[in-house]
Amino acid sequence: MSSANVIEIFSSIQGEGKYVGCRQIFVRLADCNLNCAYCDTDFKRAEYCKIETTAGSMIFREEKNPLDAAQVIEIIKSFSGEIPTQAVSFTGGEPLLHWQFVREVASAVKDFGMKTFLETNGTLSDELKKILDAIDIISMDIKLPSVTGKFFSVHEKFLQTAQAKEVYVKIVLTGETTLEEFLSTVEVIASINPKILLILQPVTPLNNVRAITAEKILTMQAIALCKLKNVRVIPQTHKIIKLL
Ligand code: SF4
Repeated sequence: MSSANVIEIFSSIQGEGKYVGCRQIFVRLADCNLNCAYCDTDFKRAEYCKIETTAGSMIFREEKNPLDAAQVIEIIKSFSGEIPTQAVSFTGGEPLLHWQFVREVASAVKDFGMKTFLETNGTLSDELKKILDAIDIISMDIKLPSVTGKFFSVHEKFLQTAQAKEVYVKIVLTGETTLEEFLSTVEVIASINPKILLILQPVTPLNNVRAITAEKILTMQAIALCKLKNVRVIPQTHKIIKLL
């Protein structure tokens, strides 16, 4: 039985990407291997994690870390019995840092007939391979050099592995995003499969990160549409309505 440091488990709407608005159960895990300038998530390990008392109540109890897979499976079972749920989302931080735990919980989730959803920064392809059969949908971020300070060629390898499943790519656009880095990223996606859905997510300004202008968003979507079949602009909707 594996265990992991959990940040929180709760039921809410998916606020980003292709499944925006769908009801999901979120299992947010601690730790990340990146340090993005616009990060809005507290992923640091803590002695206690937060577990919603009932699905969607937004009232939390504390549980001592780490949680073992059986505990988390029971919480998911209980939440899904309360509210029909589109999928269980493994998020973070970077959930693939806990791939054994995710594999164990996701396999059980699939056994009781629910879909599994992985929200990942798209850098750990070896870990992805180890859990691929337990995951239905992959929401993969590609972090541009203007965010991380370096170009992650690992994203290409990750996307090649991920395309065995339903996958879409999300790029967060900021005032610092350059046309050059954006175009080269789009070309990488197109070279793997031009039918992969690309979500352009204008950044929610935070930590002195500048917003992108409306004109630049339209220009970038137009550039991407010359190479990819499906490119959508979707901001973070849960922030607008003040949900988790
Ligand atoms: S990958 Fe995600 S969780 Fe990690 S630092 Fe970047 S935005 Fe934050």
